[in-house]
Amino acid sequence: MSLVPFVSVEMMMKLLLERGIEETVIELAAYVEEDFRRWPLFDKTPRVAAHSPEGVIELMPTSDGRSYGFKYVNGHPKNFRAGRQTVTAFGVLSDVDTGYPVLLTEMTILTALRTAATSAVVAKYLAPKGARTMAMIGNGAQSEFQCLAFKAICGIDTVRLYDIDPQATAKAAANLAGKGLTVVACSSGQEAIEGAQIITTCTADKQYATILTDNMVGAGIHINAIGGDCPGKTELHKDILTRSDIFVEFPPQTRIEGEIQQLPEDHPVTEIWQVMTGEAQGRTSEKQITLFDSVGFATEDFSALRYLKDRIAGRKDLQLLDMLADPDDPRDLFGMIGRYAQAAEKL
Ligand code: NAD
Repeated sequence: MSLVPFVSVEMMMKLLLERGIEETVIELAAYVEEDFRRWPLFDKTPRVAAHSPEGVIELMPTSDGRSYGFKYVNGHPKNFRAGRQTVTAFGVLSDVDTGYPVLLTEMTILTALRTAATSAVVAKYLAPKGARTMAMIGNGAQSEFQCLAFKAICGIDTVRLYDIDPQATAKAAANLAGKGLTVVACSSGQEAIEGAQIITTCTADKQYATILTDNMVGAGIHINAIGGDCPGKTELHKDILTRSDIFVEFPPQTRIEGEIQQLPEDHPVTEIWQVMTGEAQGRTSEKQITLFDSVGFATEDFSALRYLKDRIAGRKDLQLLDMLADPDDPRDLFGMIGRYAQAAEKL
């Protein structure tokens, strides 16, 4: 029988308790960066999206030729009103040579970790030197992970929180208390960006929103825009985009889903993997506005799956799933059912 290791939500939380969120994000970030550096190896395709009036369900596949991974993920901004998550996910990693899955895992928590790790890895290359303060606009499910990743990887020591819903800000401030960050709860986006060298926007609303207007963004800022990730769902005023140097994951996907859907198809952007390999420049001046127009790409999920597989290797406390029909005689799938019936009769 071929059994597939399964990481449940409870097991994911256990893993986080054992290692700590910051340490986990640091380890995961190394996998994300390693995979960006070997970018040309990957099969790449914009994710496959099924849109509906309230949200989207997406499949995000990729392969490095040895392993294949995919994530199932949804995005439903109104879900929280009914007590549900905006984003939930699960994923699979498989062996390319046999096609057999080697891991099935929850990916709702893992997505928050990988998105935070990716944001912080990118900011290492783009944020102004000595950045210590980050404005965190949108204080929902992703927000605390973002704040801790920027602390652990970029040396941020102060976060200035703002959400249109003060309860979300209060929740994030309480969760971040005692985590080694100075946390300032703000009552407007304008207040949140005061003194910040990095601005992270992580809001959820299915519209062309204006979380940041042009006058809010001064010279030298790095913007980590992660909430705009669907057609018709953006966060930044177009004028900010034309003043910024824009860095993206996979242009064919970002042109459809990112902030740059507001710009002409030929507006220049830089692929972030090229900055990491040294083939393109990242921040070149103190005055430059850099924008990471993040939508989340399949290789980041692949990195997370790869990390998790290594992390759980050899554990004895994993659930193993009987999800592959794998008869002793591979051509006798039919007979396996008969043998099962005979065995059941004897019981
Ligand atoms: P969430 O629903 O838990 O939180 C979103 C928060 O945004 C809410 O607290 C809401 O009150 C706030 N908000 C909405 N409009 C606002 C406004 N105008 N000003 C200030 N705050 C506002 O969602 P989440 O799981 O934290 O995800 C946030 C966004 O990030 C979603 O749009 C999601 O699709 C996106 N996301 C992107 C990536 C990526 O890789 N780029 C990964 C995960 C999630």
